[in-house]
Amino acid sequence: MTARRALALAASLTTVALVGATTSAPAPARTASDQSGSRCPATGTIRVSTLPALSAAGCALAGRTVTDGRASVVVPPAGMSVAGDGIGVRGEVHGLTVTNTGTSVRAGSTTADRSAGRATTARAGSPAACQDRTFNLEHHHWKSALRYRADLGRMPARFHAKTVVSQIRIANGNMRKGRNTCGKPRLRTPASHYLGRTRVKPHINTDGPSCGAYDTKNVVGFGNLPGGLLGWTCYWYVGPRMAAADMMLDNGSNMATTIPQDCSATYDFEGIVTHEWGHVYGMAHTGSGHRNLTMQHVLAACSTYARTLGLGDWLGMNKMYGHRR
Ligand SMILES: [Zn+2]
Repeated sequence: MTARRALALAASLTTVALVGATTSAPAPARTASDQSGSRCPATGTIRVSTLPALSAAGCALAGRTVTDGRASVVVPPAGMSVAGDGIGVRGEVHGLTVTNTGTSVRAGSTTADRSAGRATTARAGSPAACQDRTFNLEHHHWKSALRYRADLGRMPARFHAKTVVSQIRIANGNMRKGRNTCGKPRLRTPASHYLGRTRVKPHINTDGPSCGAYDTKNVVGFGNLPGGLLGWTCYWYVGPRMAAADMMLDNGSNMATTIPQDCSATYDFEGIVTHEWGHVYGMAHTGSGHRNLTMQHVLAACSTYARTLGLGDWLGMNKMYGHRR
């Protein structure tokens, strides 16, 4: 257990978006000035900083792309929220979440964690995986079975489809069932069903990256993620209920389905996907100082540790879903 995580070269870039929007009624895009003098832009990306004024002006924002300059999301239908969250090898944690309340627009971001951008070599300063009880929740989770498909259209040529699909499914089980080495029992997370391959792409745009429009299909796929990101998950929720999720894995050269013997900066595919499934199931990042947990935003290279949950990871999932007696 002690040597579970040896090398941490990763930092993550997290984007959580929070946008409150206007009524779902497709209010016509306005061009007239409101009292504050702002206008509803007919087209184009909307900056987060202008959201309060646009919301107050009654602008129709559902379906519009909102950006804070680094991350962006498409405002979901009324009553729904969307957020994106990822893990990478460098960069800083950054958050943007968008909620369409139907009555108002709010925007916010998660706390930036500058330490995430720092290369680090050991997990020695963090509690051991089975002694670290830290977790944070997104405050929404699945109340029924999760059905998903895989889009391998942009999978790296060096990967084998059969292995990738297998590890995606195993990673789902790692998180959903709470696989751990701490002696904790299996979780009672609702079932998941892999429905096979699809040509439907995850609704994630690699610029930003940004979360695209809401739909009911849950897709795991590949793409050229920016900024050293290894994985990115967008999830849509209605209050406490998760409604949909898409996941994109980077198709660059620094992840592998088997860690090589001479590893220096290779990241474990199944571990990355396990972390991203954590976001799908409602787990948020732990913050710094928890390098032995799967849900820390910093991923260590050359190790498969993230495939199994640490105590905090298990406790967070258990709080949402409970476990078998
Ligand atoms: Zn993450």
